[in-house]
Amino acid sequence: MILPPQTLGMIGGGQLGRMFASAARCMGYRVMVLDPDLVSPAAEFANEHLPVAFTDPTALEKLATDCAAVTTEFENAPAEVLVALAARTTVRPSGRAVAVAQDRHAEKTFFKSNDFPVGPFAIINSAADIEAALHKVKLPAILKTARFGYDGKGQARINTPNELATTLAAWKFAPAILEEFIDLKLEISLVLARGADGEIALFPVAENQHVNGILDITITPARISQELAARATAIATKLAVALDYVGVLAVEFFITRSDAILINEMAPRPHNSGHVTIDACCSSQFEQQVRALCGLPLGDPRLHTPAVMLNLLGDVWPNVKNPQARSAEPDWQVVLKHPGAHLHLYGKREARVGRKMGHITICDTDLSRALAITLEIRQALQAAT
Ligand code: ATP
Ligand code: MG
Repeated sequence: MILPPQTLGMIGGGQLGRMFASAARCMGYRVMVLDPDLVSPAAEFANEHLPVAFTDPTALEKLATDCAAVTTEFENAPAEVLVALAARTTVRPSGRAVAVAQDRHAEKTFFKSNDFPVGPFAIINSAADIEAALHKVKLPAILKTARFGYDGKGQARINTPNELATTLAAWKFAPAILEEFIDLKLEISLVLARGADGEIALFPVAENQHVNGILDITITPARISQELAARATAIATKLAVALDYVGVLAVEFFITRSDAILINEMAPRPHNSGHVTIDACCSSQFEQQVRALCGLPLGDPRLHTPAVMLNLLGDVWPNVKNPQARSAEPDWQVVLKHPGAHLHLYGKREARVGRKMGHITICDTDLSRALAITLEIRQALQAAT
């Protein structure tokens, strides 16, 4: 077991790294962050920041010697770096698991070959694959780059064969995946932690609403039947075992109009839809990340209060769409006046449309009241932009 005050390494300096650092430092660990950005959300909360490339040999040497364990907060961390570090220190999750999750080709192939339910898809590497893809996948469809997509970026809606050809050409035939457009009833997600000894702790199933491909609201617990929640739980558990996963794993699901459950994708880290666990669960997803990384027994994932999370995108920053005007901060009193509201800001200097700047969690014994307060806050923030 790795105990405080040992040092934990974090590859990536975004908000997930910030919340990990916050949890780890509360527990008495030291945190070292590797991220090339001079100013990053996680670095603000770290004891030490290495502001160099993720592959910088000197920085990797320092992580290997100074850190008792190393993890990552984003799936684009170079998997080979994780594999190399694993020869020197504890690395969780494994580079192998991250490599599967960071490439839609590897991910979908893994799901399919292990009999996990996924919607119709086709792998595209060149123009020669187009015809076969259109045989496998009915239009309309969504084309996604195999790598480096997030928050709906690197995706295009495809309505005609011609659109497929022109979009692929515009993307210079970067490896891609064509997915049939699923008529969704609902989107849900499940975050779990798996310890090195195989122990699994599951957070409650969350219900997610997206706007423009970006998560907007998460409602926890999801308003679904116990039977459906049990199916999602069984799939996520089986997936963590199949990957021999150690750490926090998030699984996103589509629920179709006919109540079929399909895996959308997985993330080898805490997840935006798990942010409610900070304020509404006995142990947060970030505390679980620390515990799994350090080989500690997992914490209690139980939800103590129903909660709704609202993402705060740069869109609600006054004047964000008007570069000529002076930038201003939203009026946080509209949030803070609610005793059940928890404000989390990520310390990003510049607000941009679609950029995740923070989130709010509203806890309430009555879930529908939490949702009503959330919508009231969103409206007040939007009205002031
Ligand atoms: P994130 O990093 O926020 O999870 P992402 O860029 O990895 O997003 P996806 O999860 O693949 O992207 O897609 C984002 C959203 O777009 C989904 O949550 C869903 O709302 C919609 N979407 C994606 N693929 C499909 C599909 N095949 N059918 C219907 N809707 C889809
Ligand atoms: Mg997603």
